[in-house]
Amino acid sequence: MADSRQLYQEVILDHNRKPRNWGVLEGATHRAEGHNPLCGDHIRLTLRLAGESVDAIGFDGEACAICKASASMMTAAVRGRSRADAERLVGEFRDMATGKLDPAGAHHLGRLTVFAGVRELPMRVKCAILPWHTLQAALNAGGSVTTEADADPVRAPVIGGAG
Ligand code: ZN
Repeated sequence: MADSRQLYQEVILDHNRKPRNWGVLEGATHRAEGHNPLCGDHIRLTLRLAGESVDAIGFDGEACAICKASASMMTAAVRGRSRADAERLVGEFRDMATGKLDPAGAHHLGRLTVFAGVRELPMRVKCAILPWHTLQAALNAGGSVTTEADADPVRAPVIGGAG
C-alpha cells in the first residue's frame, strides 16, 4: 500500500503543478459547471465534439488538489475518445471512487486507479467525482451540477441553465 500511496501523492502533485488541458476552449460545443459546496470546488468544463468523439476539452476554476488532479486526468483520459467511451469512464470512475468497482478487476481506467484510495475518505469522494459528474452533464444537458443535489452525485438530477 505504501507504493500506491506514494504514486497517488506524486500524481496529485504533478497534475496540480501542470494541469493538463487547462483553460476555456474556443468554439466549445458542450459546457457545464460543477460545484462541490462541501469543499468549495468550482470547475468549468468546455469541450468540442467532432462527430461522436471528444475532439478537444478544457477546464478551469477553483478547486482543491484532489479535484484539480482528477479533472486534469479526466480531460487527458477522454480527449480523442468517443462519447460512449467517455461516458463509460464516468461510470467506472464513479463506481471505483464509491467502492463498487474493484480497481484490481476489469475496467478501462488505467492510471486513474490512483484515485481508488478516496473510497476511504468520504469527504474526498465528491472532490474526485465532481469533474466526472460535470463531464456527464456537459455531454448531456449542460448547465450546472452540484454534489449536494443527491447522495449519489453522478445520478443527481442536472440543474439546467447556468443563469
Ligand atoms: Zn475538493
